[in-house]
Amino acid sequence: MIHFVGAGSGAEDLITLRGARLLSQADVVIYAGSLVNPALLKHCRADCEIHDSAAMTLEEVLAVMDKAEAASKTTVRLHTGDPSIYGAIREQMDALEQRGYVYDVTPGVSSFCGAAAALKAEYTLPGVSQTVIITRAEGRTPVPEGERLRNLAAHGSTMVLFLSSSLLEKAQAELMAGGYAPDTPAAIVYKATWPEEKVYRCTVSTLAETARENHVTKTALITVGGFLGSSYDRSLLYDPGFSHGCREAGR
Ligand code: SAH
Repeated sequence: MIHFVGAGSGAEDLITLRGARLLSQADVVIYAGSLVNPALLKHCRADCEIHDSAAMTLEEVLAVMDKAEAASKTTVRLHTGDPSIYGAIREQMDALEQRGYVYDVTPGVSSFCGAAAALKAEYTLPGVSQTVIITRAEGRTPVPEGERLRNLAAHGSTMVLFLSSSLLEKAQAELMAGGYAPDTPAAIVYKATWPEEKVYRCTVSTLAETARENHVTKTALITVGGFLGSSYDRSLLYDPGFSHGCREAGR
């Protein structure tokens, strides 16, 4: 049995109870050492076989899983944040399907949620934006034409950029060309929820400069949009004049 587990965004106590239990039961753990907090490995048994996938290929990861399956062992594949976001789990799951192995997935706190917590912000403010676009600037991994930053920026929604902190010169130009005003609020969140977490507030036009000045080149999220501003409408859900399934208006 193989369990894909989301490690959470960094803080060692942000893994789910289920994730921690699976880690404590595993015979073999393969963790993404470049981003998973190694403190999480405290959950592992003393005799657990631990591999850091940072320098491994997909084939090498699969070879470790093959060996564990042949010995009827339990493997945890520990991914940073939530495995469904830039986690490269599909290719692993497809390979496991082909081999007929049983596997499951335990979600985790994605870093974009960790970043909102660091910012003490709400991404979906009434009257501001009801949409969060999760995307990335194009680097070595191509981004489909219809998802170019310039095109996505046209929505003016809340946007969160993963994997982009070293590409900000071009990214900010694209964001502005697409429609964000240069003074749209933005923030760079470095190592959200880690002890060394840092929040740098700026505007769309000063993203690259802010990253440069603060030496941020990786492990950061870029957030953009009016949700970082000061105005919004109050929610209808908690408005005394609004009835819904759980409450009559007038209370
Ligand atoms: N599955 C992960 C994302 C993996 S891609 C998740 O759900 O969070 C790796 C990218 O995620 C990094 O380049 C960075 O942009 C972002 N990232 C991961 N952890 C982060 C953290 N604690 N703070 C800020 N950004 C983070």
